[in-house]
Amino acid sequence: MKKVFVTRQIAEEALQILMQNAKVTVHSGDLPPEKNEIIEQVKDAQGLVTLLTDQIDAEIINHGKQLIVISNVAVGYDNIDVETATRRGIYVTNTPGVLDDATADLAFTLLLAVARRIPEADSFVRTGQWKGWDPNLLLGSDLKDKTLGIIGLGRIGSEIAKRAKCFKMKIIYYQPQRDPEKEKSVGAKYASLKELLSKSDFISLHVPLTSETKDLIGKKELNQMKKTAYLINTSRGPVVDEQALYQALVEGKIRGAALDVFDQEPISADNPLLKLKNVVLTPHIGSATLETRTRMAVLAAQNTVKALNNETPPHLINPKVLEYKKNPNSK
Ligand code: NAP
Repeated sequence: MKKVFVTRQIAEEALQILMQNAKVTVHSGDLPPEKNEIIEQVKDAQGLVTLLTDQIDAEIINHGKQLIVISNVAVGYDNIDVETATRRGIYVTNTPGVLDDATADLAFTLLLAVARRIPEADSFVRTGQWKGWDPNLLLGSDLKDKTLGIIGLGRIGSEIAKRAKCFKMKIIYYQPQRDPEKEKSVGAKYASLKELLSKSDFISLHVPLTSETKDLIGKKELNQMKKTAYLINTSRGPVVDEQALYQALVEGKIRGAALDVFDQEPISADNPLLKLKNVVLTPHIGSATLETRTRMAVLAAQNTVKALNNETPPHLINPKVLEYKKNPNSK
């Protein structure tokens, strides 16, 4: 029987699917497995089900001599050395589509929270500072008629556009490939990155982390934003130069930020962002609803089983692997 190693406890429904098709070992514990544990487990495994916290590098992949599939329970796959996996003829899969609403909900929640200063207001009440109604207390920003700039109008970006429409916002977007059909369906206008940065009142990031998107928002880009603008990041931490963002927030180059993702996760206790009032912080919970996480786990299990049964899994990240499978010597 084939073996699958699952790096964290995932939804029971998903484990059942795996167990009907393979011998399943699940890492127990509240923290991700150490690299050594993954290496040990992967040595005789055909399937590896991973979470975004697992850095699946060449060393791990090369220990998986029998590996057929690496199935990430996430849409992003920047935690996996896809190139090495492809060269080794290993399928790599992800879970697109099933988390769009939950992630867009969180992004929009963050947008509202920073615009209306919800964490500050909550702490104000809890700490007994509320002495009386004040017409100037905790004034935030309207959303109506404000411009939302979406960077990456993909699956999640489109969902946030739909939410923004209901809040009567104007929507512009930037991405390398213009998408006229999507523009029409969600009512967004295309803009260059420079134009988007200078025109938006809110900017929300929905790009994958790649060599092109690393530090996409740095000092230069933050300087091009309105002083009254807010930045929302639910994509991946390294898409934003965190130090430049901190400086921009302290120097009033932008008004606020809301972040679900960080350079280092979890962030260290001395991260200066923790001291700023104009920042809302959440611990990478974009897709964290019971229903969504279950759907993601089930999809990852289905991807795994397909691959173990020698079929091409539906959510294949590396279609090039098919060439390597046909001809293992091709480069
Ligand atoms: P998607 O459908 O593939 O959309 C990605 C979008 O990014 C596309 O519109 C793409 O445009 C654009 N893009 C790519 N490179 C770009 C660049 N250099 N500059 C500007 N735009 C660029 O992906 P998705 O499913 O919406 O997911 C997006 C990302 O969200 C994931 O990769 C993941 O990292 C993150 N995410 C985070 C959480 C969380 O918990 N916080 C949850 C889910 C997902 P083109 O079509 O022109 O390439």
